[in-house]
Amino acid sequence: MSALEQTDIFISGGGVAGLTAAAAFGAAGFSVICADPAPPITEAATEGADLRTTAFLQPSRDFLDRAGLWDRLAPHAMPLQVMRIVDAGGERAEARVAHDFNAADISELPFGWNLPNWLLRREMVGHLATLPNVDFCPGTGTAQVLTREAEARVTLTDGARIAAKLVIAADGRASPVREALGIGLRSMRYGQKALAFAVTHPIPHENVSTEIHRSGGPFTLVPLPDHEGRPSSAIVWMERGPEVKRLAALPEPEFEAEMTERSAHLFGPLKLASRRTVWPIIAQIADRMEGERTALVAEAAHVVPPIGAQGLNMSLADMRVLVDLAEAHRDDPGTRAMLREYHRARHAEVLARVTGVDALNRASMAEAQGLRDLRLRALNAIYSVAPVRRVMMRAGLGATG
Ligand SMILES: Cc1cc2nc3c(=O)[nH]c(=O)nc-3n(C[C@H](O)[C@H](O)[C@H](O)COP(=O)(O)OP(=O)(O)OC[C@H]3O[C@@H](n4cnc5c(N)ncnc54)[C@H](O)[C@@H]3O)c2cc1C
Repeated sequence: MSALEQTDIFISGGGVAGLTAAAAFGAAGFSVICADPAPPITEAATEGADLRTTAFLQPSRDFLDRAGLWDRLAPHAMPLQVMRIVDAGGERAEARVAHDFNAADISELPFGWNLPNWLLRREMVGHLATLPNVDFCPGTGTAQVLTREAEARVTLTDGARIAAKLVIAADGRASPVREALGIGLRSMRYGQKALAFAVTHPIPHENVSTEIHRSGGPFTLVPLPDHEGRPSSAIVWMERGPEVKRLAALPEPEFEAEMTERSAHLFGPLKLASRRTVWPIIAQIADRMEGERTALVAEAAHVVPPIGAQGLNMSLADMRVLVDLAEAHRDDPGTRAMLREYHRARHAEVLARVTGVDALNRASMAEAQGLRDLRLRALNAIYSVAPVRRVMMRAGLGATG
């Protein structure tokens, strides 16, 4: 039997959330072991690469900085200055109203910074390799977790045994650690999927992130740096499942014609600049964000449809609270009292965001013309009252107060 290795923090899962947690706890001086059965794919062209992008909102950028990651990421990040919401829900697929939410109304900084997920993995793995107190074990998964009052005992798939003061479950929406602890969850299904891919377009994006609503779900373009000398954006296109299946199988010219139509021609003819990847869309929230010696973070705790860049940004907020608490309980991070405090600090806030994004997604899916007109009136009403608009913008960023 292999020797028992002691660590402060064991992180189950090395997706973007788990890697960020490893960097953050490493920067805070804790000993960290992070395991993931799937080695990270760090090249866009490799089969299976995560071609989504993540728009990190202001508080997340601060946290990435604290985790020692921002200096490596900043040179690749595309600033997002304006969020434009376009309603194209009339009889024809044309923009009938566009409202700009400009970061300058509430801050001197941009709203957020957009980065490709495969590049995040590359830079994060590169950074972890420089930290002597962080051990990242790709190709090795969590096989068993047993918790006691004083510590957690973890067995990995290669037989290694670990004693940790705190286990962080960052092992995704089907979290094996959450399952092992018997923590329940509530899921909402929409019969929807998302296509994620990159495009080029003749009309520049000018650092505007554009969300176009018609039916089936939002069509969102998020600015990327130029691709082969042409303006480029990452697109997330949400539709009912069968429609996504049809779109994913279309030959490129037909697909490009359909996406240009769906974009209401706002950027001219769109041209594919990557493969098309398909993602299932659900919302989900765990009943609790803690168990004995364990904290759930990111998709292990909550999943939302990709609207308003909430998913990973909520996850980074989980980690911010957790690192703060661990620093305040440095001798023994992971006590019952500390973890209850973590649950109290995060669960109500997460529930409110999951509920809000669920409502926005259902509004965006609306097929009936009457509902689409109602959605337009609601958007106009929010936009026309400046203080309400500013409160919504701050709430979207995850700012409190
Ligand atoms: C189309 C789309 C666009 C999005 N855009 C944004 C955006 O702009 N902004 C934003 O904030 N969020 C966005 N999100 C959400 C964001 O992508 C997710 O929140 C994030 O990728 C989830 O990260 P995660 O690390 O929690 O989960 P995952 O990436 O699923 O990672 C979980 C990891 O756990 C590992 N694992 C599984 N089993 C085990 C085991 N037994 N032991 C150890 N590890 C295990 C898996 O291999 C995996 O690597 C988007 C989501 C979608 C679908």
